[in-house]
Amino acid sequence: LVRLRQRLAGSQGALGKGLLALLSRDKLDEETWEDLEDTLLTADIGVAPTQELTERLRTRLRVEGSTAADARAVLREELINLVDPTMDRRLAVSGEDGNPGVVLVVGVNGAGKTTSVGKIARILVAEEKQVVLGAADTFRAAAVDQLQTWGERVGVPVIRGAEGSDPASVAFEAVKQGVVENRDVVLVDTAGRLQNKAGLMDELGKVKRVIEKQAPVTEVLLVLDATTGQNGLMQARVFSEAVNVTGIVLTKLDGSAKGGIVVAVQRELGVPVKLVGLGEGPDDLAPFDAEAFVDALLG
Ligand code: GDP
Repeated sequence: LVRLRQRLAGSQGALGKGLLALLSRDKLDEETWEDLEDTLLTADIGVAPTQELTERLRTRLRVEGSTAADARAVLREELINLVDPTMDRRLAVSGEDGNPGVVLVVGVNGAGKTTSVGKIARILVAEEKQVVLGAADTFRAAAVDQLQTWGERVGVPVIRGAEGSDPASVAFEAVKQGVVENRDVVLVDTAGRLQNKAGLMDELGKVKRVIEKQAPVTEVLLVLDATTGQNGLMQARVFSEAVNVTGIVLTKLDGSAKGGIVVAVQRELGVPVKLVGLGEGPDDLAPFDAEAFVDALLG
C-alpha cells in the first residue's frame, strides 16, 4: 500500500487532489459540477460513469454546510463504489482434477505482457507454487528471449519452440509439461499482433483449443497499457471478442495520470482489474484493491 501510494502520488495523485479541491469550494454550484465532469473525463473514466458519479456527489453534497471533511468521505465512498469493491479479484490459478491452473496471457505488443508474465511467476513462486512458463509469442525472438531471462531470474522452466513455430504447439507443450510434472500453474505468454480481428480470433482460439486437450484454461488475463486511453479500450473490446477474458492486468499505471481507465475498462468488459503494473522492476506488480487504490488516489 505504501508503494502504491508512492507510485500513484506523482501521477494519479493529481486527479485525487483535483477532485478534492473542487469539492472544497465554498459554493458547490453549476460551474463546480461542470469542472468536476471535465476532471473525470480527462482521467479517462468514461462518459457514463462520469455522469453517474457527478450525479451521486451532487445529490449527496447538496446538504447545506457540508464541510470539506464530509466531501472527502463522500468522494471516497463513491469512488470505491465506482471501482466496485465486490468483484472477485483473485487469480484463478487452481486447476481441478489434479490439473495445473492454466493462465493464458493476451494483449497487444508493448502492453507489458511478457514483463507481467515474469512478475506473476515471481509472485506465484513466492507462494511456493511450482510454475512453468510457455513462450508462445513465437513471432518475436526477442519476446522469447525476454521470457527466458525472466524464467532464469525467477527460477522456473520456460518452454519455447523454434523461431516462427506454431504458437499453439508451444502452448500445448508447456501445458503438457505442467501436467506431466505435476506443476501447480502454467503461464502462457501469447503473440500480440493485432492484425485483424478474424486473425486474432483464429490464433487465440486455436491456442486455447489446443491447450484444452491437456487441461482447462482457468484464467485469461488481458494485459492493457493504462497510458493508451480510448485506444486501449478498443483493443480490449477486440480481445474480449476473440477470447473469453476473465481478468485485466493494467500496466504502466505509474506513468499515467489516467487512473479512471480502471473504471472504464471494467465497465467495458465486465471483468475485474486483478493486477496493476507500477513500474519495470520485478516487484512492481500488485494485486488490485479498490479501497487501497482510492486511498492512494486521494492521498
Ligand atoms: P509485451 O510486448 O506486451 O510483451 O511488452 P513487454 O513486457 O516487453 O513490455 C514493454 C515495455 O513496457 C518494457 O520496457 C517494460 O519494462 C515496460 N513495462 C511493463 N510493465 C510496466 C509497468 O507497469 N510500468 C512501467 N513503467 N513500465 C512497464
